[in-house]
Amino acid sequence: MTIKTFITFPDERQAKRSLLDMDEQQLADFLAELGEAKFRARQIWEWIYQRYAGDFESMTDLPKTLRSRLAEVATVASLTLATEVVSADRDTIKCLFQLHDGQTIEAVLMLYDQRRTLCISSQAGCAMGCTFCATAQGGLARNLTSGEIVAQVLYFARYLADPSLLPDSNVERPTQVTNIVLMGMGEPLHNYANVWTALRRITDNSAFGLGARHITLSTVGLAPMIDRMADEGLQIGLAVSLHAPNDSLRTSLVPVNKGYSVDAVLEAVRRYVVKTHRRVTFEYALMCGINDSPGLAQELAAKLQGILCHVNLIPLNPIPDSPFQPTSDEDTEHFAQILRAAGIPTTVRLRRGIEINAGCGQLRQSRDAQNRTS
Ligand code: SAH
Repeated sequence: MTIKTFITFPDERQAKRSLLDMDEQQLADFLAELGEAKFRARQIWEWIYQRYAGDFESMTDLPKTLRSRLAEVATVASLTLATEVVSADRDTIKCLFQLHDGQTIEAVLMLYDQRRTLCISSQAGCAMGCTFCATAQGGLARNLTSGEIVAQVLYFARYLADPSLLPDSNVERPTQVTNIVLMGMGEPLHNYANVWTALRRITDNSAFGLGARHITLSTVGLAPMIDRMADEGLQIGLAVSLHAPNDSLRTSLVPVNKGYSVDAVLEAVRRYVVKTHRRVTFEYALMCGINDSPGLAQELAAKLQGILCHVNLIPLNPIPDSPFQPTSDEDTEHFAQILRAAGIPTTVRLRRGIEINAGCGQLRQSRDAQNRTS
């Protein structure tokens, strides 16, 4: 694998207005404040969302004076690359980005034959406290703004649009982001408003224009927010991090289960399916000797009967100083077979980027550790 780190400087973006945090009307109002014609808003909007401009300089059909004025007071780049790690087979690229206030977040691009899937963060840190998750260990620093969420997508859209930046590969692949999963740092439904503003910007045809069906939001299971999501009217896919079929085990792994029990989460999922007609994914990270016994597979299958769903078994990414270890491939397959035999469609997630610590929050954690020792 290849690791590149970039020196980060004290950040002057703090004082600037982020155009990524504005809708088109707000952008028009902002330009009006600067004494500019309103049609400039559409031009700049297209530069940002359809031509992926990362700075004002490259917006070549704007007058030079306007470009330099905008560069003084505004920004279209809310992320600074701090570390980039490319896997040995060059099909997984993980980036640690620094935000204007020094917070860091991770995003990962995974290159498949036909897809380019982007995994993005919704918060800096996370408040949910899942005991096996690296992000949880540092707690929540803050919510990302909608612009910071969208900026992760635009960063990789720009990256993919420029073939000179791509890792060498002899596989033909699409040059755009084709799929997005909100499975990076943070709990997306704990930052509901900003996440949904970002999702509308990403799916809106006059902005980034990716089909909602190509996006999956993964949640720890905040039941009332799943109901709210069902009413949004966008065909975003829902994934629920279940990890255990009963309350005592789930509470020990996913502490928010104290507030939203397994049954409460499954009821919200049933309502979601009725409203959206979409198949829901249940994520289940298999941990050796903890949640991977054949008996638990049967209990899980019984719980999920009658729900339009599929189960995605995730090989655990072990985190440092953690008692949790991954289940063997053989036991994973056995667990999957029990679910399938009971009629629950089940897949085992590919191990992607494991050598580059692609588990949620692990890159940030290793950099923090390095900073502490240097
Ligand atoms: N907060 C959201 C999304 C972030 S994490 C959620 O809970 O769904 C995305 C997925 O990775 C979740 O299913 C999460 O439980 C899982 N995950 C976290 N740490 C992991 C680890 N060390 N190994 C495997 N999966 C992990």
